[in-house]
Amino acid sequence: MTPDSSNGVVIIGTGQGGFQLAACLRQEGFEGPITMIGDEPGLPYQRPPLSKAYLKDGRVETIQLRPGSFYERNAIRMMVPERAIRIDREQGLVETLTGGLVDYDHLVLATGARNAVPPIPGLDAANIFGLRTSVDADRLRDRLAVRRRIVVIGGGFIGLEFAAVAISGSHDVTVVEAASRLMARAISPAMSEHFRRFHEALGTRIVLGTGVAEVILGSDGAAHGVRLTDGTELPCDMILLAAGVRPNVELAQTAGLTVDNGIVVDSTLLTDDPAISALGDCAAFPDPVGGSLIRLESVQAASDQARLIARRLTGKHTSYDAVPWFWSDQADWKLQIAGLGTGADEDVAVEQIGARKLVFRFKMGQLLAVETINSAGEHMAARQLLRRSQPITRAMLEEWKFDLGGLAKALKELS
Ligand SMILES: Cc1cc2nc3c(=O)[nH]c(=O)nc-3n(C[C@H](O)[C@H](O)[C@H](O)COP(=O)(O)OP(=O)(O)OC[C@H]3O[C@@H](n4cnc5c(N)ncnc54)[C@H](O)[C@@H]3O)c2cc1C
Repeated sequence: MTPDSSNGVVIIGTGQGGFQLAACLRQEGFEGPITMIGDEPGLPYQRPPLSKAYLKDGRVETIQLRPGSFYERNAIRMMVPERAIRIDREQGLVETLTGGLVDYDHLVLATGARNAVPPIPGLDAANIFGLRTSVDADRLRDRLAVRRRIVVIGGGFIGLEFAAVAISGSHDVTVVEAASRLMARAISPAMSEHFRRFHEALGTRIVLGTGVAEVILGSDGAAHGVRLTDGTELPCDMILLAAGVRPNVELAQTAGLTVDNGIVVDSTLLTDDPAISALGDCAAFPDPVGGSLIRLESVQAASDQARLIARRLTGKHTSYDAVPWFWSDQADWKLQIAGLGTGADEDVAVEQIGARKLVFRFKMGQLLAVETINSAGEHMAARQLLRRSQPITRAMLEEWKFDLGGLAKALKELS
């Protein structure tokens, strides 16, 4: 693609990754047209505060990624709210819900994910909420204006972040998680246990290993409680459904692109059509360590992938091998994860003073990931270590008494 290509780059999705791509394209010197098509109203915003500060204060200016003047100054055409409904790969155009046809030289799918809805009877009652968009957060904030008995379905990051905010407002909160531990997909058993104790100490009830069998509806059609798979009934006035997400892949699928738990891309984030890339929550890419397809749901992955595509589209070739990292704020605990712990066969938990805790995750003696609570320095050192081409072994860490900063410094001096 030439830097001034006539139809330019069209980005579907005005979320974290879509925004970052448009901004990076201009930073990298792309001078052609950039069009963003997004089905949410308003300007691109960040989602992490939706389950944290924004849920409490509702200050829109704190979540917006850039003011309107940024898009004007950088000649980024915003088509919002507008939904892309079809991709015509032969003609190189996107059709929108209001009948618009937008030509592209290169198309980027940054369609994100949506809340998963498990097959539980009664989940369509009016007092059951999801938390994905700023509109969802606004609705929830309104509901939290009076004291409620709340059931949270799902003990993952978003369910627990919401629970921490709700309990701080003196609501009665129960988190129901079908798995045997919290955040099981993402963190070690030791860290799950730290967080279970922490949330219980805050006053939240945690029910593990038992799913929700059905929502109990009152004669008004509203949810009055849930019945668990073991028969227990939990009365409530509202429910937060936080049972994971599904990638938005339908546009890609109907356009004939390969989809496998996400829009399949190679290590340069290209789909099997050389004129179409995909990034962020909707994209499944080859794990640089194991090679299998993975999908990351994080700001850092969406942003790094956007940077990479911008570089590729402006002729600077590179592939995606960033060390993944993630954070979650739950009350005054900041959980940070450097690396991916999937496939770990050994965990080493190290306790520090106060709420500072670390878990090291290994596979066959090699460090895969480090989980920390309120330990920003150790998290940064772990990222530095995991970026190295040489593996960090358990033996090396033992020699350094698990002092990540010390080991990182020593290795830097050696290189
Ligand atoms: C409540 C909450 C808290 C979070 N907290 C954290 C956190 O603490 N740390 C962290 O790293 N990550 C967090 N995340 C995850 C993070 O926000 C996402 O990983 C990130 O936003 C992914 O960016 P994206 O561009 O891939 O998708 P998104 O930001 O979801 O953007 C996708 C956009 O595409 C739009 N779209 C979809 N289909 C179409 C279509 N056909 N036409 C037009 N538009 C379309 C969607 O409506 C959406 O606006 C959180 C997410 C949520 C919901």
